[in-house]
Amino acid sequence: MRRVSIATILLFSTSLFAQEDFSQCVAQLTEKAKIQGIAQSTINQTLAKAQQRKRVINLDRSQPEFLSTFEDYYSKRVNTWRIEKGQALYAKHRIFLDELTKQYGVPGQYLIAFWGLETNYGGYKGKIPTIDALTTLACEPRRKTFFTNELMTMLEVIESNELDVQTLLGSWAGAMGHTQFMPSTYKGYAIDGDGDNKVDLFHSEKDALASAAHFLHQLGWQAGFRWGREISLPDGFDYALAGRKLTKPLSFWRQLGVTSVYGQPVADIDLDSSVVIPSGYQGPIFMAYPNFHIIMRWNNSQSYAIAVGKLADQIAGAPGLVTQFPDAPPISITQVEKLQRQLQVLGYGVKHIDGIIGSGTRTAIRAFQQDNGLVADGFAHPEVFEALNAIYQKQKS
Ligand code: CA
Repeated sequence: MRRVSIATILLFSTSLFAQEDFSQCVAQLTEKAKIQGIAQSTINQTLAKAQQRKRVINLDRSQPEFLSTFEDYYSKRVNTWRIEKGQALYAKHRIFLDELTKQYGVPGQYLIAFWGLETNYGGYKGKIPTIDALTTLACEPRRKTFFTNELMTMLEVIESNELDVQTLLGSWAGAMGHTQFMPSTYKGYAIDGDGDNKVDLFHSEKDALASAAHFLHQLGWQAGFRWGREISLPDGFDYALAGRKLTKPLSFWRQLGVTSVYGQPVADIDLDSSVVIPSGYQGPIFMAYPNFHIIMRWNNSQSYAIAVGKLADQIAGAPGLVTQFPDAPPISITQVEKLQRQLQVLGYGVKHIDGIIGSGTRTAIRAFQQDNGLVADGFAHPEVFEALNAIYQKQKS
């Protein structure tokens, strides 16, 4: 009995302290907002009502157990439903989209694709009150400075667009509206698309589409060019040349024998391009053009960029991926750590045992593959685990 009650008191007091910390933090944020010229009426609508959301903290702290594979990512996002819905919306908004393309150079199917990937075309914009999410994260030590700035920016956005704070819902990490912009992107790049002189990414589809076009244009979208395409590599391709950071003129790849996935040589032009391999040599492989990197500045994920590109293509009527995904089981973080440790012991120069397959681990895997007659693409295929295990055990005994 006694033990239970002490535990209860401890628990209770911990949450009380946390609550007090949060109130103190909000008081500091309110001071800061006042200094930055935010009106009292805005503060009353926002910070004065802000609540700490435990769910936001839990999601911010959660760590994945398995590496998410490109196949998982892709097949969840570029699916029949999203393609067909996208085609319908592309048709519905066509006149408006064509105007945006004329003005900003971004084809309409891409704008629809971003919208589809971010929120299922507005079907899921998130359910967490934006001010609560931003305030909670601004009061967490992990990314305090970043989220304090985002929160202050959001207060400005609310004030200048007279947004109704109660209807502002978004993701747990503060991304908002149809296109899930963060406050700084909202303030810096969002524009009015429907002509009511307010920029409302929460409720106006036209504001969201116009803002996406304007944002991509400002990021440097190259009008008249694609994002990339699915390709085939010639036999004996040197996989050390793969990776989006190594750009070469398209003509360079053509000389090496790189073709479209349908077998035509890639164009003989001087366009910066790189070979992107998201799921190993057996899976689909892509050529990435400059617009691929623009998409990654919207969301810094290679898988995202491929998904946007392919969804856009398919919304505009192009076929889906030609190459099937390899049949491979999911890989756990623990398995990767073991692989890294084994590579390290065998002298393949893995620096950090962190369960993440970064460029260092890829290089080590590639060297191991080369030494053992495997296709040296730097991926942790089942055949790599098997060979590595066998050699490691032999060395140990
Ligand atoms: Ca508007």
